[in-house]
Formats: sequence, structure tokens, C-alpha cells
Amino acid sequence: MIDDAAVGSVIDPEQPEATYVLEPDVVAPLVARVVTSHEAGTHRSICPFTGAPLATFSLSSPADVAGAVERARAAQRSWAHVPVRERAGVLGRFGRIVLDRQSEVLDLIQMEVGKSRRSAFEEVADAAQLARHFAVRGPRYLAPRRLAGMLPLLTGVRVHRRPVGVVGVIAPWNYPLTLALSETLPALLAGDAVVLKPDPQTTLTALWVAEVLEDAGLPAGLFQVVAGGGDVGAELIEHVDHVAFTGSTATGRKVAARAGERLVGATLELGGKNPLYVAADADVRTAVPSVIRACFASSGQMCLSAERLVLHEDVADEFLARFVPAVRALRLGAGLDYSADMGSLVSADQLAKVEAHVDDALALGARVLAGGVHRSDIGPYFYAPTILDDVPSAALCTREETFGPVVSVTRVASDDEAVRVMNQTEYGLHASVYSTDVARARRIAARVEAGSVAINDGYALLWGSVSAPLGGWKSSGLGRRHGAASIEALTEAQTIVVDRGARIGVTLDALYGLDEGRPSELLTSALHLMRRLRLR
Ligand code: NAD
Repeated sequence: MIDDAAVGSVIDPEQPEATYVLEPDVVAPLVARVVTSHEAGTHRSICPFTGAPLATFSLSSPADVAGAVERARAAQRSWAHVPVRERAGVLGRFGRIVLDRQSEVLDLIQMEVGKSRRSAFEEVADAAQLARHFAVRGPRYLAPRRLAGMLPLLTGVRVHRRPVGVVGVIAPWNYPLTLALSETLPALLAGDAVVLKPDPQTTLTALWVAEVLEDAGLPAGLFQVVAGGGDVGAELIEHVDHVAFTGSTATGRKVAARAGERLVGATLELGGKNPLYVAADADVRTAVPSVIRACFASSGQMCLSAERLVLHEDVADEFLARFVPAVRALRLGAGLDYSADMGSLVSADQLAKVEAHVDDALALGARVLAGGVHRSDIGPYFYAPTILDDVPSAALCTREETFGPVVSVTRVASDDEAVRVMNQTEYGLHASVYSTDVARARRIAARVEAGSVAINDGYALLWGSVSAPLGGWKSSGLGRRHGAASIEALTEAQTIVVDRGARIGVTLDALYGLDEGRPSELLTSALHLMRRLRLR
């Protein structure tokens, strides 16, 4: 039997429920921004800390979605001609306002998702980082690129990035600020318009983004929020020129299929079952706090969370001797301040999934080293940070994404075995390797099938390195976000070729006007010359 009281410690169990209620003067101006004709019904979100109602808002009908995209398209035509420096200026101001007004959005994120304030702050930092990055570097990403043409000096080639038009962003609930912005900011910088369909549970944060973009000077119509569930997301795909989807692999497959039928681009950021390897030479003392964040930030409801701990047998006991008590000491809580290490799960569904994974593992013979309990004494959806050992390979939690504060331990005898275990998954989003020998860790990383590998870190350094591509292999997605990769996904390449020889009479047409056989002889000589000179 698991000792409930020994897991974590409750802070502020007496918090009055009134702490987690939003005033009408906060909610009303936000919900007024939903694109709705009030014909599609309403949705009531809850505050996960208490389970009590948080906000009620009207949903968007199919006609509302079509109308939003039409208005976005009209606004985008002029936006595309606004000089890129001016578009970058909006992003710069947006980033500053987010930092200045962070307490507003921190409250919204916490009350919509139930996460701790320190996890919510990661989103504020990310928003500022993304806005700054695209404001400063974006114009360079968009600048035309000169490339070598067919005939050296005689052929001028430039590749331009043109906006795709209207980008439909479909986002999950787990990082409502970050995932409202990851594609929105580069899209706006590139001259696109955006229609965002957030998860119904986190619509207020999306609407706050709309308010702040307007305050930052974004012209009307360029960023709109439609509200609703999967049906509204599916409708959005019918109208837009590119779909930027973040969510589960199951939904991602449907989104990709429909985008494929419409022949519009789709960027898919999907689920993961991320491994974290602690090698024999890891510095266990410094690794432990880092691994805790990797597993339990946002209560493990993060695509980059580590859910599989792969421990080299030489270091496993020492690691667990430090890791288990530290996890048990994590402070769970619901405060709108920085006192809690970990918050709640988002919903009853999420709690049910976590409990099902843990129960299934225990029924198959797994052991609980920490957690394994629903902390209803703190709030309806709190679940203790959980470490499972001896989890059989048939268990759900070894194969499927749990998306909660549950990590399973596997011991390995070598780096080779670690690589094999790390790659034993249909997913390939992210992995971590802890080792004091960075060269060795790089060699291991090179054999891991994942879009990113962090050495001696969980996810934060990767996430914050916004100039580098971020995304998954295998069933974890298609395409990349961040940096130049975002701009490439959200624009069309247009190649413009100029015949410079025309002015001096040296053109391909003149060549083809020569006698039979001569053009190919001349071209063959030219191609040999280019090969010898190693011209591109
Ligand atoms: P989900 O797939 O259920 O929903 C995501 C979004 O898609 C929601 O807005 C939902 O309303 C919408 N949607 C549902 N059905 C749709 C359809 N048929 N057509 C269009 N839209 C539809 O995912 P979730 O449970 O809300 O989010 C958790 C998942 O997101 C996890 O798997 C997590 O790993 C993943 N995620 C991935 C990343 C990443 O960057 N790779 C980031 C965050 C979350």
C-alpha cells in the first residue's frame, strides 16, 4: 500500500476557492474577442485547481470560421506589403508588453491549466524570447537569397520567401501562451495572417494574446481567435493556406490527411515518449534537480517531458537514492505565486489517463518508488509525482504517452543497450543524455532517433534555443518550428531567374540557333570546364 502522506507536501490546502475565480471585468473583454455569431452554443471552462467554473464563452460556427479566414485574407493582402521592419516592430513591442503585463497572463495560464507559476513563467519567457528572436533575426530569414545560376555570371538567381496567406494554428491546452505564438509570431513577421483555434479549456489565454497583439499595433483582422473543439479545428483546415497543428499523434494524422487532400502545407508537432539516459559517468548530484524538472515541469504535461528514465546499472542505485527522496519532497500546490514546485493536472480526463497508466503498470508487476496517488486533498485533479520501477514492456506507460507526472525506470548495462532502449518507441520527439564526457554523450546522441537531444539538460535549453529547429521524427511530427525553419514552413519559396546574357547577346536561345550538333558540343565543353573549376 502506498503511503499517501509521505508523498510531496501540501502547501496552502486552505486556499479559499475565491482565489481561483476571475472577475467579470477580466473575462468580459476577453470573451468579446471570440469570432462568433452566437449561434453555435457556449462552452464553460473550469479552473483545474478547484474544478469550479472559470469562464463561459460563445463558440464559433462553421460560418464564423469561414468569415474569420475571409477577413484575415483581406487584411493579409495589405500586411504583406508593409515593410518587414515595421512588421518586426509589432513583434518587438509585443514581447515587451508580455513581459510588462506578465502577472495577468500568469494568472490566466495557471487558472486555465492548473500548472505551477514557475511552469507558467516558462511560457512568458518563451513568448519574449520568440518575439525578440523573430523581430531581430526574422528580416534576415526573409531576405532574398542569391544562388548560383545555370550559366555562371550570365544567369542571376534569387529565391524570395512569399507569405502563404492565412495560417490556421490549432493548439492544445498544455502550453496555451507558447503554442498560441510559436507559429503566429513568425507567420505575422512573414506577412501572413493567422486564425487561431485554441483548446476550449485555454481560450482565455489565446484571447489575451489577441488583445496584446492589438496593443502592440497589429492591424485588425490579422490575428483572430475562433472557439470550439475538434469540429471547429477541422473546419479551419478547410479554409486556410497552411495548417500549423500541435497536439496528439492521433489527431495529427487526421489533420495531415485533410491538409494532404487540400494540398496545403501542414506542420505537425505531436506527442512523444521521451527517454532520458543517465550514463555511468554522469554527475549524479547535479543531474538530479535537472532530471526532476525534465520529468515533472507542468506536471509532466509537456511534449518534451521525460517519461522514460534509462539508468546505467553502475550509477542507478546512487541516482535513485538521491532522486526518489527529492521527488517525494516536491511541493504540490495551487497558489498564484511561486511557492509550489508542481501544480495540478488539467482535467478529469487527464487524471483518468494517468491513473489508468499507473494502475495498469502496477497490475503487471511494477513497483512504486514515489507517488502513485491521486492528491484529492489538494484539489480534484492533483496527482503526486510518480516514479515506477520494474515496469514490464507490456505496460501501457512504456509504449504510450502518459502526459502526466509519471516516469518509469529501466536499467541498462551499456551505452549500446541504452540506445536500443531509447529507440524502442514509435515516437521520436526529444531525448536527454547525462554524462561528464560530452564527446561520449554526442556519440550516443547521434544514434538516438529523435528530433532533438539535450546533453546534461532536460528540455529548457533546447526550448529556449529558438534559432534551432524543433520538432519530431517518426510519429512525433512533420516539419519544424523555430528559427529559419518556421519561416520556411510559413512561406512559399519563389525563385526568380534573370537572363543577364541577353544584354550582350549570349543567350540559350542564341545557342540553340546554331547548327545542328553545335549547341550540345558547346554545352558539353562548358559543363566539363565547370566540373574542372568545381563551379556549383
Ligand atoms: P489533441 O490532439 O486532442 O487536441 C489538440 C487540438 O486539436 C485541440 O485544439 C483540439 O480541439 C483540436 N482538434 C481535435 N480534433 C481535431 C480535428 N479532427 N481536426 C482539427 N483539430 C482537432 O491534443 P491534446 O490532448 O489537447 O494535447 C496533448 C498532446 O499534444 C500531447 O500528445 C502532446 O505531446 C502534444 N503536444 C505536442 C507538442 C509538440 O511541440 N510536439 C507540444 C505540446 C503538446
